[in-house]
Amino acid sequence: MSQSLIRPMTEEYEEFLRDESRTSGKAESISFPNGENDIKKIVDELRREAVPITLQGARTGLAAGAVPSQGHIMNMSRMDRVTGMRKDQQNQFYIRVQPGVILSQLRKKIELKSFEHKGWSQECQKAYADFCDAPEQFFSPDPTEASATLGGMVACNASGARSYRYGSIRPYVTSLRVVLTGGEVLEIRRGEIKAKGRDLTLVTEQRDSLKISLPRYQMPDTKNASGYYVEDNMDAIDLFIGSDGTLGIISEIEIRLLKMPSVVWGVTCFFQQEQAVLDYVAEIRRSLTEIASMEYFDGDALEILRQQKKKGHTFAQLPDIDEKMQAAAYLELHVGTEEEALDHLEKIEAIMDKTGGDAQHTWVARVDVDRDRLLFFRHAIPESVNMLIDERKKQFPGITKLGTDMAVPDKHLHRIVSTYRASLKRQGLQSAVWGHIGDNHLHVNLLPRNEKEYETGKKIYAEWAKEVTALGGAVSAEHGVGKLKAHFLQVMYGEQAIEEMRELKKQFDPDGMLGQGNLFAFQSKGGGNS
Ligand SMILES: Cc1cc2nc3c(=O)[nH]c(=O)nc-3n(C[C@H](O)[C@H](O)[C@H](O)COP(=O)(O)OP(=O)(O)OC[C@H]3O[C@@H](n4cnc5c(N)ncnc54)[C@H](O)[C@@H]3O)c2cc1C
Repeated sequence: MSQSLIRPMTEEYEEFLRDESRTSGKAESISFPNGENDIKKIVDELRREAVPITLQGARTGLAAGAVPSQGHIMNMSRMDRVTGMRKDQQNQFYIRVQPGVILSQLRKKIELKSFEHKGWSQECQKAYADFCDAPEQFFSPDPTEASATLGGMVACNASGARSYRYGSIRPYVTSLRVVLTGGEVLEIRRGEIKAKGRDLTLVTEQRDSLKISLPRYQMPDTKNASGYYVEDNMDAIDLFIGSDGTLGIISEIEIRLLKMPSVVWGVTCFFQQEQAVLDYVAEIRRSLTEIASMEYFDGDALEILRQQKKKGHTFAQLPDIDEKMQAAAYLELHVGTEEEALDHLEKIEAIMDKTGGDAQHTWVARVDVDRDRLLFFRHAIPESVNMLIDERKKQFPGITKLGTDMAVPDKHLHRIVSTYRASLKRQGLQSAVWGHIGDNHLHVNLLPRNEKEYETGKKIYAEWAKEVTALGGAVSAEHGVGKLKAHFLQVMYGEQAIEEMRELKKQFDPDGMLGQGNLFAFQSKGGGNS
């Protein structure tokens, strides 16, 4: 039976060898399970030869976590059903989904309150009826790429603009089902299983007891998606969130929704100098509490948008960006009333005056359509950069974009930006910088024009990873480590911690079948290297 689930790799599956990091790998077979039973059958078959398995969601990842190095690809796109809903005593709603559900589609269903609920239990039907009568709800994690799957988002501990206020996906994951390579299944509900110090006991549905020793390292006190989440007395569910496809196969997820704030406004302010934005952000952080996101675009990113606007119909409706403007910050306000929003606008204007912004050049988006246009504009920058690099790759196939994903504590934002700027200037590299400035998490995108610049870019990226680590930051704050940042994980935690992570993986996946090359190299039981 599982033989027919496992298909040989042929040309028609070529696209599954790549993800959005634009790196490409190799595989001998591929499967598209329809449900947890299929996953178990496939794993049973592959276990006999300890065939490596690379898990895939929508392949929008930027760290090559879903790019196979050999063996089998398990692609979760057909597990795309919403399987139920529940409401708790505090009137919070929870939705159960298979891992291949796509974020944009889930958002639409939540917004329209329209779910295919045939086959749900009576309890779920009742919760759904209450959901339809309840005030508008939303799911806060928002990676810019809304074609991501929920499984991929959980595996990367994805965040996005609104994580400034609401955090990453982690606190919104309330239950997981995970298939292990031995064929056992874990069902973990948040709040039910806690570690004692760094010792954790898990019992599978097959009644096997797993006694797990957790690594001893301390995680940084910043936004973080680098390696396994471990802390004293931790909730067991957190170990699997952000595990980058290396510990188990996530087969079902329950997520928690939030009540939509009544008023959501977007405010984009422009500045003539980068330093002014850094001061503005620091002041906003000190003075205002109702900010959901604080996003940044530097002069190079704005120039990309000016060029896009010249070319495209979609951007034609956006106001012009004055040539003098060298930086911009987008704030999203989530408040209860329009009066509160206006009060915030006044305060923002005062902070702009104080820090060198210009109220004349400010866009305020009060309705969904204007906000959506700004979000589209936000998404267009990485897309344009990818297109630019694809063009350059035709002449220099060895190059890729080098995009950083590092965060530092609040007090080091000015310092790390000076470091980035000094290196870029010294090396004369082309770049565009944008990202989640509220979390001190900027994506510096190095855009090499040839192979020499690519090598230089890799060197300065490595220097920055050391500096970020020294400042108490994280080498990956949201994209995950995958394969492309495995060497930075070593810089961040050191060899001892990596060895402890290997030991942890061995306890779930002794043959090292899952996610070969993600996070760290792994010597499997049979002696093979993964
Ligand atoms: C233009 C652009 C903007 C982006 N902006 C953001 C952003 O703002 N914030 C952010 O967080 N990310 C961002 N990303 C990155 C990406 O969208 C996220 O990392 C997303 O969470 C990946 O989801 P996916 O379904 O594409 O996963 P994939 O890329 O397919 O896989 C990612 C990882 O998850 C593992 N995985 C997938 N499914 C499972 C499963 N069922 N069980 C266990 N492991 C699994 C894979 O093995 C891999 O290691 C952006 C990407 C692009 C292209």
